[in-house]
Amino acid sequence: MRTPEFVREAVVALTVVNAHGCWVWQRKTRKGYGYLWGHMAHRLTYEAFMGPIPRGFHLDHLCRVRACVNPKHVEPVTPAENNRRAMAVVQQHPGERVHHAAKRWCTHGHAFDEENTGRDRHGKRYCRACRRDATRRTRQKQGQAPRGRQWHIDEAKWADLRSSVDRSGPTVTRVEFAKLAGITPQVLAQWFKNHKGLIWPVASSRPLRYYRSEAELLIECRTDENWPKTGRSYQDHAAKRGRGGLSSDRTHVVVLS
Ligand SMILES: [Zn+2]
Ligand SMILES: [Zn+2]
Repeated sequence: MRTPEFVREAVVALTVVNAHGCWVWQRKTRKGYGYLWGHMAHRLTYEAFMGPIPRGFHLDHLCRVRACVNPKHVEPVTPAENNRRAMAVVQQHPGERVHHAAKRWCTHGHAFDEENTGRDRHGKRYCRACRRDATRRTRQKQGQAPRGRQWHIDEAKWADLRSSVDRSGPTVTRVEFAKLAGITPQVLAQWFKNHKGLIWPVASSRPLRYYRSEAELLIECRTDENWPKTGRSYQDHAAKRGRGGLSSDRTHVVVLS
């Protein structure tokens, strides 16, 4: 039988509580809403925990997470009021469908606050943190250096070493130089700009080329504590940073006072 106790037990088994207190439905959803026994799951839990829903009333998700079945996150409202609220949300975020416009966190749980919200040329929001991760992953896959990675040279050490450099042999372009150093050509170009005279290109080379042996020696003079040690993969770094948020907190509190 569908007693309130039974519904409450089902909720524990079929949801995961996320960082925002939403009880997120883990079974299949339709248009974002969870269903159980052919009924909308959030309506069932509301009745099981809070009591009957007034006839003809809709439940408005105040948390804007459709899959959420936390009865404290919904409010019974008339269909007209529900619609009016939905329209108000859409007007705040032109270019987005209502269920997207209502999102206050991205799929991975990053907040859509001022700092983390980017807008594409249509005015649509995107999650900056997720896009950063995606860029990082793509660059990793393509074997490119991570963006924004800076490097620093121990200039005293370099001053000692550079006199002994044999300026001959194979040469590299700036792009190849950057690849050797594990940084982007942009970062290297910036470094060249700020450190004029530390390393000279091959005489009258156009585009500029550098002696490979000299470049390698310069790279050895790198000082950066945060520089990842060789052999440690990008995945290790990602794991250390702790990506994602929602799926990890699988704790349950279904006690309502
Ligand atoms: Zn919620
Ligand atoms: Zn995100």
